[in-house]
Amino acid sequence: MLLGCIADDFTGATDLASTLVRGGMRTVQLIGVPTGPAPDADAVVVALKSRTTPAAEAVAESLAALRWLQEAGCRQVFQKYCSTFDSTEAGNIGPVGDALIDALGCGFALACPAFPANNRSVFQGHLFVGTALLSESGMENHPLTPMRDSNLVRVLSHQTEGTVGLVPWATVTQGSDAIRRVLNALKEQGRRYAIVDAITESDLMAIGEAAAHHALITGGSGVAMGLPANFRRAGLLAERSDVATLPPAPGHAAVLAGSCSRATLFQLGAARDRVPTLELDPIATPDATELARRALDWADGKLGDVPLVIAASAPPDRVAALQAKLGRDQAGALVEETLAIVAAGLVKAGVRRMVVAGGETSGAVVSRLGVRQLRIGAEIDPGVPWTYAEGSGPPMLLALKSGNFGGRDFFTGAFDLA
Ligand code: ADP
Repeated sequence: MLLGCIADDFTGATDLASTLVRGGMRTVQLIGVPTGPAPDADAVVVALKSRTTPAAEAVAESLAALRWLQEAGCRQVFQKYCSTFDSTEAGNIGPVGDALIDALGCGFALACPAFPANNRSVFQGHLFVGTALLSESGMENHPLTPMRDSNLVRVLSHQTEGTVGLVPWATVTQGSDAIRRVLNALKEQGRRYAIVDAITESDLMAIGEAAAHHALITGGSGVAMGLPANFRRAGLLAERSDVATLPPAPGHAAVLAGSCSRATLFQLGAARDRVPTLELDPIATPDATELARRALDWADGKLGDVPLVIAASAPPDRVAALQAKLGRDQAGALVEETLAIVAAGLVKAGVRRMVVAGGETSGAVVSRLGVRQLRIGAEIDPGVPWTYAEGSGPPMLLALKSGNFGGRDFFTGAFDLA
């Protein structure tokens, strides 16, 4: 294993894993702190749920993941967080970074959340979403991690016992040697972190090159773009054509949708006209077992190569109606439980290729299916790869789609590629 990664949430882990596959690294995503033997892969991404947990818990889990990665022989460690630097007052980016720096004995790490493909850039240490400062991008109203300060030097300073410096864009644009010199100087001055400006993908490639010998790199998936080339230059990573090739998983095809995001609603509209589609009515039947039983009865006899779609997804007025009836948390839990039971029933009935729409929904399904690891394959649409899922159940192909990702024909088009 060349690169060992610790990600603070599930879909962020997949995003990073996909970036590494595009760069030519065979990559496996593991769910939760791993225990067993390491998979055969160039990079492993451990997906934790540590973004908003108490800092001490996030640190303990991240250190446990680090120990496993070190035992597996990884040469470099990557701490992955969101490209909008999502963190609470207590962290957890700084506390986890501090703990990893201590455990690795490296004293220093760069921090760069920039992700130009998604319009996240860092300039003079300030994070922008498109043309807006982070603090005016809508992220200031995030329910769990409101980001009210765009100055990442200041934000990270509040989360660490160390001090934070800056590598400005004027340096970054001069290339990797210049970046390396400033990083070294900041480390010698006793800084623990350096926020590194980045606006374009070539900035990220240069930053990656400058960090070739760093024990720890922290950032969004963007800054990982430059890392595969380092391993290739060092003769550690062979060029191969099968990086994204997954084993076949013969079986039926199905889509489960629990996301109510706009893109998912469009995808559902497109699928409705083309393949068998069942829309659940949790308002009429607020009972997970009963809803799931009806869905599985409906699916019986329709399963095959053509995907069928089972969706709880609904427009805002229907969501609000269920929430008014049950309360927000109960409404979400009811739908997640229903789709998790349906997923298990479909697998039992021979489904082996499944698209799941929705971040929380994916978490519920993956956990019900007992999935422990995902080998990352080719992307269907940006940010959503097919994966080969293994765990306590039969191996299968899973595509876990974050709500707003994917083109209009995603629910049918995905299966042309699996
Ligand atoms: P996204 O990735 O779009 O945010 P998630 O799966 O993370 O999707 O979140 C969607 C949430 O909405 C889930 O908790 C899901 O259970 C809930 N949900 C889905 N359908 C409905 C519905 N018809 N009424 C109320 N809540 C729903």
